[in-house]
Amino acid sequence: MKAAGPFPPDFRADSGHLLLGDRTAAGLVKEAGGTPLFVYDRSVVAERVRRFRAAFPGVALHYAVKANPFGPLLAYMAGLVDGFDLASAGELDMLQAIGGDGLPTSFAGPGKTDDDLAAGLAAAVTINLESEAEWQRLHRLAARDSRRPKVAVRINPPFGLKGSGMKMGGLASPFGVDHDRVPTLVRRIIDSGADWRGLHVYAGSQSLSSDAIIESQRATVALAAEIAGAAGASPPEVNLGGGFGIPYFPGDQPLDVRAVGEALKETLANRHALLRDTKFILELGRWLVGEAGVYLTSVVDRKVSRGKTYLVTDGGLQHMLAASGNFGQLLRRNYPVAVPGKFGSEPEEEVTVVGCLCTPLDLLADEVMLPRAEVGDLVAIFSVGAYGLTASPQAFLSMAAAGEVLV
Ligand SMILES: *Cc1c(COP(=O)(O)O)cnc(C)c1O
Repeated sequence: MKAAGPFPPDFRADSGHLLLGDRTAAGLVKEAGGTPLFVYDRSVVAERVRRFRAAFPGVALHYAVKANPFGPLLAYMAGLVDGFDLASAGELDMLQAIGGDGLPTSFAGPGKTDDDLAAGLAAAVTINLESEAEWQRLHRLAARDSRRPKVAVRINPPFGLKGSGMKMGGLASPFGVDHDRVPTLVRRIIDSGADWRGLHVYAGSQSLSSDAIIESQRATVALAAEIAGAAGASPPEVNLGGGFGIPYFPGDQPLDVRAVGEALKETLANRHALLRDTKFILELGRWLVGEAGVYLTSVVDRKVSRGKTYLVTDGGLQHMLAASGNFGQLLRRNYPVAVPGKFGSEPEEEVTVVGCLCTPLDLLADEVMLPRAEVGDLVAIFSVGAYGLTASPQAFLSMAAAGEVLV
């Protein structure tokens, strides 16, 4: 037997049936025309935003679209957050499609093509520069199109976010400009007459350690002051990044955002005079939407092989790569998993839940204890609202597409 990850605290049952919004999972599946189906519960997102506002008064909240770009969710976010962060021109198209491009928006990411930069210029979004050469191309395109570019410089900091799943910073990096070269670039930007918006640091992702995030934010604010001093200019904005993680696996504890908020308040109260009028931004993806998502699949076959019981479902890693353990994890562990028709019931048997792909990698839950599920019953994987469908190889094996719905 292996443990499964902890359920987000937000979900309830009605007579043993999992509720999503105020509907049963089975009812939603029927209405949507079947499984596989991703359900995103807006009340969970709203609750996370409430928690953010309480912990970080005065700090702007941006949504990192790449965590989940589902149109109805994006439109819902537009009413909750202060801005967006984009990682591609395709995400800009999505934002424009839902009319969310009126909010402050920045565009980061290495390898922006001239077309990407021109699209960002035309939409008047802040381009977070990833290199000096990118600035040269942007400057040329701005002159060609007679536009005044809005630019910030993404810094490759001399530190990383400790304890984060993905560590960026402190090393050579394709992301951002090495911190000691930033003041020179900032001067060139300002001297060109461009609209210099400030500085951006994104030091890591999926951290559950408030201490590590506090330390990284302190270091970022200090670095911003140092760069401002060296460049002789106060940054209008400093984007402190994010990296807030969520619990996925057995033993994971939720991030203490209140502690992070308290410490940031103190850091900002003591900030350098050059940052006095600076607007501070946090850009979050996973923490806002990750726990709002549930992936619903149906059991197609129950089989026993050499004493081991398999639930074979109509879903799989083609929709939810991370739950299979193949999205950057070193060690495969189980996401939270349930039988929605028996939510909260005592577990009855040890089962291994697999998808329908012809590969042993397609494992959704390994040797977990669940209430008994028969062919036709639903199996749910939780905490799939970020880096789910769009971070999975959907074309692999040409299986049926997954549906998505916001409730
Ligand atoms: C991916 C990304 C984010 C969002 O990260 P989360 O871990 O989902 O919060 C924010 N900023 C940048 C620059 C990113 O690349």
